[in-house]
Amino acid sequence: MKKDEVRVRFAPSPTGFLHIGGARTALFNYLYAKRHNGVFVLRVEDTDQARSTQEAAEAILDGLSWLGLSWDEGPFFQSERYDLYKEYIDQLVKEEKAYRCYCSPETLEQMREELKAQKKKPMYDGRCFSRRHEKNDQPFVIRFRVPQGQTTVHDLVKGDVTVDHKEIEDLVIARSDGTPTYNFVVVVDDAVMKITHVIRGDDHLNNTPKQILMYQALGFDVPQFAHLPLILGQDKTRLSKRHGATSVQMYRDMGYFPHAILNFLVRLGWSHKDQEIFSMAEMIEKFDFDAVGKSPGVFNPEKLLWINQHYMKHNSLEELVSGIEQYIEIPASRKNAPEMKKVIDALRDRAKTLDELAKLSSFYIQDEVVISKEDQLKFLTSDTKEPMQTFLQKIQSLNDWQHDALEKIFQETLTDHQLKFKSLGQPLRIILTASQFSPGIYDILEILGKDRSISRIQKALQTLY
Ligand code: GLU
Ligand code: ZN
Repeated sequence: MKKDEVRVRFAPSPTGFLHIGGARTALFNYLYAKRHNGVFVLRVEDTDQARSTQEAAEAILDGLSWLGLSWDEGPFFQSERYDLYKEYIDQLVKEEKAYRCYCSPETLEQMREELKAQKKKPMYDGRCFSRRHEKNDQPFVIRFRVPQGQTTVHDLVKGDVTVDHKEIEDLVIARSDGTPTYNFVVVVDDAVMKITHVIRGDDHLNNTPKQILMYQALGFDVPQFAHLPLILGQDKTRLSKRHGATSVQMYRDMGYFPHAILNFLVRLGWSHKDQEIFSMAEMIEKFDFDAVGKSPGVFNPEKLLWINQHYMKHNSLEELVSGIEQYIEIPASRKNAPEMKKVIDALRDRAKTLDELAKLSSFYIQDEVVISKEDQLKFLTSDTKEPMQTFLQKIQSLNDWQHDALEKIFQETLTDHQLKFKSLGQPLRIILTASQFSPGIYDILEILGKDRSISRIQKALQTLY
């Protein structure tokens, strides 16, 4: 490790998908690492065996990769590191900084009740510390001995937060089955992995004084801390499933650009003047804790959609084409044809998401279009059958297959049958695209080409009228 090297980590518990809150924590860690040419470590905190799953761990890694938040070291799994934790637990017990507690659940309950009756904070009273030299073959947990005094967290976001140790009970660091608990393993890992900045949600601020005491007891340097404000739903309650889609995977499925999500996340609790749109390079250059607010960020899905639309308008056509490939399979012959970009360019303003863009451009990408019964009944009415036949005949002999010539033929057909544009334009649009919303019909004809246009019209005349 280089001197002064910044080392940060993202330490998810694998109990579900990658959530908006977790993704923001990961992003802030990533940005801080990049900004300081540091190292971003990924550590999976799977010591809670009842709640952790392999699938959740994979989903989280997958979500991070999709967002482009690549890590430099890891993933490390805490479940594979029990031997290491045990060494440090033994060390603390040996040094009498931790001790065996044999209290039964009933004893603990009684202790709490008594304290409550005295209007005191219900917490463990440390009684087994004085019995630490007694012999006992009952089951036990291991508790960390909290010394007297005060601890101040110098938080890069929250400022100084001081806690009197009277408020902290002797916490369990190993359960009766020997497995270590979160507050202990997080300290060992952050120390052993040489983490310099612990950047995480402020739901962990309460844990920080305990953790600082354990760094000190183990003889480790205490890292810097930055606790990020909560993310709330629009009703100002803590963001949860009740607020709709809150996992990164859901937004991927709905057709959001990974960068739009990152751009949205960076503004949840951080600001730079009133700028809303940031490239990755700008985020890296500008991100710092000075501008992380103390108050919660509010999750506004409409704003995310707005940001996504921004990238829909401004990303390159190549990016859009490769973006929609997640939602629709594109035959190579079409993907590389110049028409592909024309289709995307003509439709990008109408789509808010890549999924919508994929659907809108499917008339070109897929061999067939599927016209709904409703559109068939509404648009492919008997009075438009004859004019459609006329139009078909005329284009069959057209060699110069381009916009203006097609327009001329269409206008002639309208005149022949004394029709307004819309009465034949809309049926033709449905036949060619199965959609009422699409680029101009001459553009569609040109993009589809002569063979595909003719065969769609023929098929409609034979089977749908
Ligand atoms: N595993 C913890 C969580 O997902 C994070 C611990 C930490 O960042 O210190 O909430
Ligand atoms: Zn005890």
